[in-house]
Amino acid sequence: PIHRFDTVILGAGAAGLFCAAQAGQRGLKVLLIDHAAKVAEKIRISGGGRSNFTNRDLDVRQPHKHFVGQNPQFCRSALSRFGPADFVALVDRHGIAYHEKHKGQLFADHSAEDIIAMLMAECRAGQVTHWQPCTVSAVSALDTDAHGQRFQVSTAQGTVHCRHLVIATGGLSIPKIGATDLGYRLAQQFGLALVPRVPGLVPMTFDGSAWAPYAQLAGLALPVVIGTGSKKTRMTFNEDLLFTHRGLSGPAILQISSYWTPGTSIDINLVPEVDVAAHLLAAKQRSRKLIANELASLVPSRLADAWVAQDADWQRPIAEASDKALLRLAERLTRWELTPTGTEGYKKAEVTVGGVDTKELSQQTMEAKKVPGLYCIGEVVDITGWLGGYNFQWAWASAAACAAGMADG
Ligand code: FAD
Repeated sequence: PIHRFDTVILGAGAAGLFCAAQAGQRGLKVLLIDHAAKVAEKIRISGGGRSNFTNRDLDVRQPHKHFVGQNPQFCRSALSRFGPADFVALVDRHGIAYHEKHKGQLFADHSAEDIIAMLMAECRAGQVTHWQPCTVSAVSALDTDAHGQRFQVSTAQGTVHCRHLVIATGGLSIPKIGATDLGYRLAQQFGLALVPRVPGLVPMTFDGSAWAPYAQLAGLALPVVIGTGSKKTRMTFNEDLLFTHRGLSGPAILQISSYWTPGTSIDINLVPEVDVAAHLLAAKQRSRKLIANELASLVPSRLADAWVAQDADWQRPIAEASDKALLRLAERLTRWELTPTGTEGYKKAEVTVGGVDTKELSQQTMEAKKVPGLYCIGEVVDITGWLGGYNFQWAWASAAACAAGMADG
């Protein structure tokens, strides 16, 4: 027998769950399919288990400020109709306690499970049918049959016909918990263009021997200003940097990684709050300390020690150092330029940059312009948010836009 639904949603992650709930509550008969045993594994591990579910600082009139992609303006329509305040209202209705942590980031007080339970309750209110775990073997277009059905979805639990098919299979990061390229393959099958995919919000790696002097700093964290790109594309972030055994991580690196082009450099100001040159030249006049000890008043002493080890001119009492050597040291600390060899890849990335080209989709409804009834939402689309709750907000907003579009269409 053929199962018939108005809407089939592939992927029960953030976007798929929310879209299913919204569409169901608008009266559509919805089937939600996921190959993983559990729903929303990424919500479960997000924000260190507390889920940074949105960001209060998101300016819905200027979303391009917090989103990356070939056309970040694409997300404006959906975000202006379903913004952070709308999601917060839902969280409030479910009585989930939350708090703001840093730069507008909202986290659940107790657990990410509360957000998942909320989405499941919303799905129940929409009488959503779940098939999970259930693999999808093929999708094909139907010559519209008598019921107005446009797609056939072949799955381990049988064949389904539906009027709307929603691709909500997410990105490629963390394959261990269920990420696959199904969404991209389906988009291609239906003739939708893809923007090349690369890992985003990801730690960076450096050449083994060149990195050796810094490997001893693993575990050290400090606030920096980090930048990449030339004049027109220049992007900077004021965030914490973390040294690791293989390279650099922390919010500063994760943020800049989404903007970094392989082969180009990044630059880091390790002492953004102080005029280092003036500080060192003044210290030279009055101090008997070693340069490393003077530096230790500006940066963690482990960093100061590793830094002066790079140049014999820096391994002496500051009173005996030449002005030139001190200026060079200041320059090196405040404009540390380095070229990453790569990133830790999808195994460690929080998101995938690139995806279904927004040119293919309606910004009102997320429907594919050339394939009526086919929708793409969430991370599978070429819209990537900054670290800090922006990616979930895009998942909620694109899901809501899609559900409204399907109910009206
Ligand atoms: P997903 O939530 O990834 O859901 C996709 C679903 O599709 C999954 O359930 C998957 O099993 C299913 N699927 C995939 N392939 C198939 C297939 N072949 N057949 C059937 N089903 C399939 N963002 C934030 O905003 N705040 C955070 O705090 C945050 N923390 C994060 C922490 C980590 C470690 C990671 C990896 C990401 C984090 N993100 C965070 C990013 C965020 O999780 C994603 O951007 C978001 O989940 C995307 O939603 P989505 O619904 O598009 O995709």
